Amino acid sequence: MQKIFCLFLLCCITSLQGQEYFLKKYEPFQENIPSPEEFLGYGIGERHTRHDLIVAYFKKLAEVSERVTFYEYGKTHEGRILSMLTVTTPENLNNLEALKAEHLAFTDPQRTPSNYDEVPVFINLAYNVHGNEPSSSEAALLSAYTLAASNAPEILRYLRNAVIFIDPAINPDGRDRHTQWANTYQGSPLVADPQDAEHDEYWPGGRTNHYWFDLNRDWLLAINPESRGKLGWYHEWYPNVVTDFHEMGSQSTYFFEPMKTNGSLDPIMPKENYEDLNSMFGAYYAKALDSIGSLYFTKEVFDGTYPGYGSSYPDLQGGLGLLFEQASSRGHKQTTAFGEITFPFTIRNQFTSSITTVRAAVENKTYLRKYQQDFFKSALTNANKSSIKAYKFGDNYDQNRVKAFIDKLLLHKIKVYKDGDKSYVVPTNQPQYRMVQTMFETYTKYRDSVYYDASAWSVANFYNIAYTAVSKANLGTAVLSTDDLAMVSAVQRSNYAYLIDWDDYNAPAVLNYLQKNGLVLSAAFKPFTSKTSSGNRSFNYGTLLVPVELQKKSSEEVFELLKEAQTKFKVPMYAVSSGFNLMGVDLGSRFVQPVTAPKAAMIIGEGVRSYEAGEVWHLLDTRVHMPITKIPMRNFAGADLDKYNSLVMVSGSYSFNEKTMGKLKAWVEKGNTLITIGGASKWAIDKKLVKESLIKVDKDSTKSAERKPYVDAGENLGKESVGGIIVRAQLDLTHPLGFGYRNEIIPVYKNNSVWLSPSKNEYSTVAKYTAQPLIDGFITDTNRDEYLKPSASLLVSPLGSGRVVLFADNPNFRGSWYGTNKLFLNALFLGNHINVPK
Ligand SMILES: [Zn+2]
Repeated sequence: MQKIFCLFLLCCITSLQGQEYFLKKYEPFQENIPSPEEFLGYGIGERHTRHDLIVAYFKKLAEVSERVTFYEYGKTHEGRILSMLTVTTPENLNNLEALKAEHLAFTDPQRTPSNYDEVPVFINLAYNVHGNEPSSSEAALLSAYTLAASNAPEILRYLRNAVIFIDPAINPDGRDRHTQWANTYQGSPLVADPQDAEHDEYWPGGRTNHYWFDLNRDWLLAINPESRGKLGWYHEWYPNVVTDFHEMGSQSTYFFEPMKTNGSLDPIMPKENYEDLNSMFGAYYAKALDSIGSLYFTKEVFDGTYPGYGSSYPDLQGGLGLLFEQASSRGHKQTTAFGEITFPFTIRNQFTSSITTVRAAVENKTYLRKYQQDFFKSALTNANKSSIKAYKFGDNYDQNRVKAFIDKLLLHKIKVYKDGDKSYVVPTNQPQYRMVQTMFETYTKYRDSVYYDASAWSVANFYNIAYTAVSKANLGTAVLSTDDLAMVSAVQRSNYAYLIDWDDYNAPAVLNYLQKNGLVLSAAFKPFTSKTSSGNRSFNYGTLLVPVELQKKSSEEVFELLKEAQTKFKVPMYAVSSGFNLMGVDLGSRFVQPVTAPKAAMIIGEGVRSYEAGEVWHLLDTRVHMPITKIPMRNFAGADLDKYNSLVMVSGSYSFNEKTMGKLKAWVEKGNTLITIGGASKWAIDKKLVKESLIKVDKDSTKSAERKPYVDAGENLGKESVGGIIVRAQLDLTHPLGFGYRNEIIPVYKNNSVWLSPSKNEYSTVAKYTAQPLIDGFITDTNRDEYLKPSASLLVSPLGSGRVVLFADNPNFRGSWYGTNKLFLNALFLGNHINVPK
């Protein structure tokens, strides 16, 4: 560290000019504190800064500045540090615990402190959630240096009145993926031509995290360690203001809030947030950007209602979340219709907005504090006005799915109580009432297609949790952690056989674990009732059977493996001593068949929708602990498919030539399973791989269209797309794809226009939308009545001795659809045993 520092000191003198472009305004700086340029050895904007260097610089600041402490709030999937720098005056820093207590008193609706102006305002400057929007982390380095080292009176005033928490990179894994790209292709001299490789990253790009998740959708769903770490930090500090810096397409200028008016109308939010606060802050940004000659726009675009954005989640915590979008130089310099955009120029705009945020927050400290206090107080008043006093939920068969849902509630500090063996209650009368609404309430009206993203996010439906709103509830004992929520009675030893419930969310993980360790398991294709060591029990479709004598291992070894699997995955298991069942088929029935282990592959790469592919990868890695081979599209024609018995194709554009198409078809016909999701299902039908069809609505081609104003075209077309809705599907519970479900009506997530016609084969339509399909979100009447209602959600189509499983919808959406993951895992684990009668 020391060596690097000295080496870099030598070259810093050469580019002082670059430093002035950003920092002149805030001189003088403390001389003992290295500027980013002195530390890194190059001027900000000359290269893309690696994440480890950002962390090293932050640690350096904490070491040399009395104003700064460094905190690590987590680690990414790839092991990078998630860091937070706290900056304020040394006095405030020494007194931070007391200031925190005073600050938090404003978030407690039971208390009424009024020292609004006496407590420093808490500001979270957060950057780079999208890894390939790199100007922001560079601006974070400048903000950190300015706040840590500047002695300008203006900065000293901010420090006295604020505690600033700087998160330089919310998505370090994506950031480094992009950084590597941009630096690798950087020319000297720079090449501004947009066609140069520097300006066009390869698949999957650096926007997403390790598993190709968009972390700017993950604040609500909290699937990834980046968001989980952040939420932990967030609910400790409840900042008054939070920034979220982004980049948009290069052919633009700069955007700050207010957002689009009709995209801000969230009935859960106090109107004051978007009507007053956004305009108040907007005036500061306008003035600051005017002063450096930068163009910008507001109000036209973006929405802030989906609560999983970095700019909307803070709004649901009594803070003010702020979105910034800079036209990207994507690379170090790029020619655009607005002239040449340079990387330093984009960084300067973001840096200007950063310091301006601190200023606006400091100058409106009293207002922001009072706002946060009112926010939490009004949560209780609103809850008291509502006739709904609580939501009750539970599940008799699957405690791991319920546990995963409760984990989300607790992360958001929602209070949960246990009021029975498998029953839970969430009261509405609690400070996080607005998050309770977010989790349970559904809307089919106000949310319009103007939305930039999903129009439905009632998380309880993601988990297929049956819940009811009640007007009276007795709270039981508070649930403080999820540790003991999926307790199972320990499996008893048997020398004959074991039965494992397939209803449990973790059952596929158990099956994989036992198969991997060499056991042979069967699945029951019909239900039965057995006499078990813990009494008579009825078993559902899909129940797993482990016959002891048939294994290559001793009965003691089999027992040990089952115990291990149960300790890891908490799935109910039962010992039986006879194959003769009390009801239904016997254990040796031809309806209880050995299942082959999946050998899975998935096509990835240029043209494939990386989010959907990442969701499959993430599910198998993190929940099933099963490997999947990711075959790059460019190698698919030459790949040896005989190594696999299951192939996954998610939405994407697959332009296979005739030979490759023939190879894929021949592979399925041999008895293998092709699983297609969303756009890939449409592709399989278009390419006539299967004898299925898409819904076609006949339009009269001779009739001329009704005239409409040109200016409305964008908005009108937007309405037609299905942005993301939750709909009801009716599932065949006797079909292997429906195994593990108890209720034939399930919520599914639809965010595409893949409308599958129900099959001509009576046994192929596994799930179909119901007559009243809409649960949550916006869809036009035409789309609902002419396309959604008549179509199917899930088909299995025979092809030779094999089959194609066609999902119209995405069962793994955002890693959060615990309710429909089982459909996908059934396709993977049981798919090879589906024989559709022809
Ligand atoms: Zn972005």
